[in-house]
Amino acid sequence: MMPVMRPNVLEISAGNLLHNLQLARTRMPGSRVMAAIKANAYGHGSALVAQILAEGGVEGFAVASLGEAMELTRQHPQLPPCTVLAGPFAPEEIPLAAAAGHRLVLHCWEQIGWLAEARWQQPLALFLKLDSGMHRLGFAAEELPRLLDQLTQKSGGPLRILGFLSHLARADTPGDSYNAQQISLFWQSVQQYGALTEGQHSLPNSAAILALPQSQSPWIRPGLMLYGLSPLPGRSATSLGLRAVAQWWSKIIAIRRLAPGEWLGYGAAWQAERPSRIGIIACGYGDGLTRQLGLLGAPVWIGQQQSRLLGRVSMDLAFVDLTEISGVRVGDRVLLAGGSDLPLEDWAEALGTIPYEVGTRITQRVPRRRVP
Ligand SMILES: *Cc1c(COP(=O)(O)O)cnc(C)c1O
Repeated sequence: MMPVMRPNVLEISAGNLLHNLQLARTRMPGSRVMAAIKANAYGHGSALVAQILAEGGVEGFAVASLGEAMELTRQHPQLPPCTVLAGPFAPEEIPLAAAAGHRLVLHCWEQIGWLAEARWQQPLALFLKLDSGMHRLGFAAEELPRLLDQLTQKSGGPLRILGFLSHLARADTPGDSYNAQQISLFWQSVQQYGALTEGQHSLPNSAAILALPQSQSPWIRPGLMLYGLSPLPGRSATSLGLRAVAQWWSKIIAIRRLAPGEWLGYGAAWQAERPSRIGIIACGYGDGLTRQLGLLGAPVWIGQQQSRLLGRVSMDLAFVDLTEISGVRVGDRVLLAGGSDLPLEDWAEALGTIPYEVGTRITQRVPRRRVP
């Protein structure tokens, strides 16, 4: 039986995703790519995105939890390994990660203690998180010798220490001298203690890949740029050579005529000032269409014509203004966001947030579908 779908879909362009991957490789040639697909691939759909990126030859994935990694390999057992960015949250995760071949980032002494308690058979691959200045997770550079010493002394199973991993706090403002400080501390640590690892160190995220060539390391960790979104405020994705991956489409399911003075939807959010035609679309805040976008009158496209949202977005439905546009019928597709016509970055700006957050707001209810 065909599943019955609401007309509401996030289309994921495989071609654009692979183009952006290629751009990351061109910026940092020779590095291995650990694609950040945490949080459902920034809302784009991690199973689908991982599958496409694996076809494009990525060497690994970065996720936020072992749960995300296990769910991914349950759906696609042949994918390259995941690296769990915050490492294990409990000792029981360690044998699971080892058995599944996923990699853990260790960032605190409690986790090191768990390695002594846990028991496992297959080699467990680790990155050691260096706090080079973010002061969120990680060991201080001075702790590395004691850390490496302890890891070789006490562990409940075979270990591979791949290398050091660190994260830049201000890569989105590449001119900030703090970047140079962090990068220099990273390379200094690699030089001093890297010989005790396999040398598979990892530093840059998207902004650094695009703007801080001195951060190039054996593994690079692009996230946002893969989705064709700009990590550099004030720089458009297009100007960076990126191509937007997601397009969010819904359909008009009803057309209403309102007489002057009539109110639309919940509350007193919108009143017709003149004879108006309103399209009802099958998308609402339950799908992640933020309520403010209706009140802000965010632009949408219907065929070749631009329109806008209006009134209050409801849970399953929202309104578009058809008064000024012609030839629109029930069943017509409406582009809500994405692509070069309606960059998600514009939503982020209108809502006072960053593109990272906008994508992750799109809920599970919206099916993600692959397109060329
Ligand atoms: C999310 C994340 C990345 C990817 O960052 P982007 O800015 O999306 O490229 C890299 N490293 C770590 C530790 C992360 O949490």
